[in-house]
Parts: sequence; structure tokens; C-alpha cells
Amino acid sequence: MQGNDAKKIIAALVLFGVAAGLYWYLSADDSSDAGGDIRSHWHCSACRKTFELAARELKDSVTTQERDVNEVKQEGPQMRGRGAQRTFSVAKCPHCGQWTGDAARECPGCGEVFPSKTRRGVAAICPKCHWDSRTGRKAEGDRLTEGLDPAP
Ligand SMILES: [Zn+2]
Ligand SMILES: [Zn+2]
Repeated sequence: MQGNDAKKIIAALVLFGVAAGLYWYLSADDSSDAGGDIRSHWHCSACRKTFELAARELKDSVTTQERDVNEVKQEGPQMRGRGAQRTFSVAKCPHCGQWTGDAARECPGCGEVFPSKTRRGVAAICPKCHWDSRTGRKAEGDRLTEGLDPAP
């Protein structure tokens, strides 16, 4: 009888091992489903925090918003005569829960994450080291004032 019990225990252990292995295999397969997990950077204009979103999260966490760029003061002369409305992508901020996340980029020079467009809708430059996404170099002259939002 004792020999049979030992066999039952071994059989149970083998079954358990197979089940655990199967579970591991299935769950591992599940997470690899999200392959090509490109994460995008976002910057919340309400709480000033940055966050990342995976490609598969964009569908639920990002929408578009029309903004009246003409309402913004200190607009450049090149903006006049253009359409007042511009479409921006906005993401739901996981920190404060508001739809105030602006598309952002990570500066290759200093690692700062900053909004990729200014409130005037032009390509922004890194607020720390003034790296310019348009040229890939440090911004100079007029681009310093065009690409940086005035301090709030
Ligand atoms: Zn926020
Ligand atoms: Zn920088």
C-alpha cells in the first residue's frame, strides 16, 4: 500500500508540474503578445508630470483636441492669417486623471522629457539644454524664443 501511495504522490507532483509549466507557458505567451511595445512620452500640463504610454494603451488613453492657438498671446507674425484651430493629441494623465497630457519627447542630449509642441503649436526645444528637434542641434537666435514657452 505504501508503494502505491508514493506513486500517487509522484503522479500528483508530475501533474502539478505540468499544470504549472502550462500556466507559465500560456502567461509568457500572453505577455509576448504585446510585442513591439513602443512607449511614447507625454507631459501633463496640469500637474507638470511626465508619463509613458505603450502603443496598445494609445487607443484608450489618447484623443485629439482642437485648440484655438490665436488666443495665445505673443504669437509670432507667421501665425497670423492661418487657421485659428489646430489639432493636438491629448492623453489622459495617470497622475491626476485629466485629459491634459501633451505629446512629449525625450531629449537625446540631457534626457529631459518635454512637450514636443509649444502652446503656440510650433516644435519645442529642450527647456534644459535647448536641443532643437527641427535641426537636431542646439537652438540659436529666434528659435530660442519661438521654441520655448514663456515661463508661466
Ligand atoms: Zn497630470
Ligand atoms: Zn536637453
